[in-house]
Amino acid sequence: MSATLISDVTVLTMDEQRSVVPHAAVLIEDDTLAYVGPAEGCPAAEGVVRLDGRGMLALPGLVNAHTHVPQILLRGAPSQGRRLQDWLNNVLSPGLAAFSPQDLEVATLLYCVEAVRSGMTTVVVNEDAGGADYLGVADRVLGSLRQSGLRVRYARMIRDLVDDRVLAASGSRDLERMRERTWAGRHDSARALAEFDELVRRHHGSGNGRVEVWPAPATTVTTTLETFAAAQRLAAERGTSWTIHLAETPIEQELHGRSPVDLLDSHGLLDGALLAAHCVHLDDQDLSTMAARGVRVATQPSSNAYLGAGVAPVPAMLRHGLTVGIGTDDANANDSVNLFVEMRMLALLQQAVNQDPAVIPPGRVLEMATSAGARAIGAGDLIGSLEVGKRADLVLLDLGGVRTTPVHDVVTSLVFQAGGAEVDTVIVDGRVLMRDRVLTFLTAQEERALCRDAQQRSERIVTRAGLTW
Ligand SMILES: [Zn+2]
Repeated sequence: MSATLISDVTVLTMDEQRSVVPHAAVLIEDDTLAYVGPAEGCPAAEGVVRLDGRGMLALPGLVNAHTHVPQILLRGAPSQGRRLQDWLNNVLSPGLAAFSPQDLEVATLLYCVEAVRSGMTTVVVNEDAGGADYLGVADRVLGSLRQSGLRVRYARMIRDLVDDRVLAASGSRDLERMRERTWAGRHDSARALAEFDELVRRHHGSGNGRVEVWPAPATTVTTTLETFAAAQRLAAERGTSWTIHLAETPIEQELHGRSPVDLLDSHGLLDGALLAAHCVHLDDQDLSTMAARGVRVATQPSSNAYLGAGVAPVPAMLRHGLTVGIGTDDANANDSVNLFVEMRMLALLQQAVNQDPAVIPPGRVLEMATSAGARAIGAGDLIGSLEVGKRADLVLLDLGGVRTTPVHDVVTSLVFQAGGAEVDTVIVDGRVLMRDRVLTFLTAQEERALCRDAQQRSERIVTRAGLTW
């Protein structure tokens, strides 16, 4: 058994009372929290690795409840200034189709570096992959994710429907070409579902159980309801969550002539294992239905603002008792991989559009990135708070820098002042991924080389895909 003792640290547990324990000790045995509390109560442990926590704040690792990873090589100029369908069809699809297998690995590692450096420990990765070799893409992406040590929920997206009205919303002048390309990128649902079994066989439970595989029908306008039902069944059979994109823009409502929540519910396709991302264009009736079915939500404030999609009704979601986590969404519709950025963005956007500076207390926002985020992805019993018996996923922050000075209420400072650079140490599953801001899965030299390589690869992808801006 391996053991690590973090001594003389202040712990913000994010348990139900949001307890703060000063001068605390945290004992990690293998992948599990064995003790969290006052130093004097900590059991004596011989042969432990000691981490000095003096001056540090221990916080549960941040949970990214909805994201897409390799797209990070498409961020920057190509994606900016576009609405969802324009961005999807004119940047994302052609861009991803131009990736080489090595591009996927480099992109994923780049993403992991930014994620770990900003204190993220769990990511719900939605992958569409663009290419025909879906399993090959998953092998590459998951290989790099495992190398980083992050906890992963890998959601296999399925799109098996092409609707001209959705393509037309992209604003493209060459609809014929777009139709061809979209049909080529469309998944044959029978094959996709068969491949899902193989994906589970290869990856589910890998990395000491850190990797779970979920089914993910994309949206109600790009995926048939039959495939929604198949995904729901697969998740139920395996006891996992499943996840969808819901009401990101008004197009679902426009095309169906009814709310997509109403549509899914009328087919029995809302349940307590479902994580619905975005949920921007929903009304009280929709939220009430979702709450009644136990659907959980991942909200993406930066991405929704980036693509001009709107601001999700998060205060109303909370009023309805929905469990809400936060996601960064695509790394190229944001353009950062940083939940501190998201927390601040979420709080400020809601305060602005609701004209109420107290509309969501900072403590609720921090919960969405930790404890509530963990519950939103169906992992509340495993992660999200620093309590004995849970997995040892935590970060140590140094709040002594200029940006987080002064601190009067640590929760408020984490939401409004911190930017991610305060993260000093990251531990996932009891393994140290970063200490003193030095990564353990890449050397400093390798990290610099990775950034140079990623820049060059991105330039070649942009050229091959013919992206303009
Ligand atoms: Zn998404």
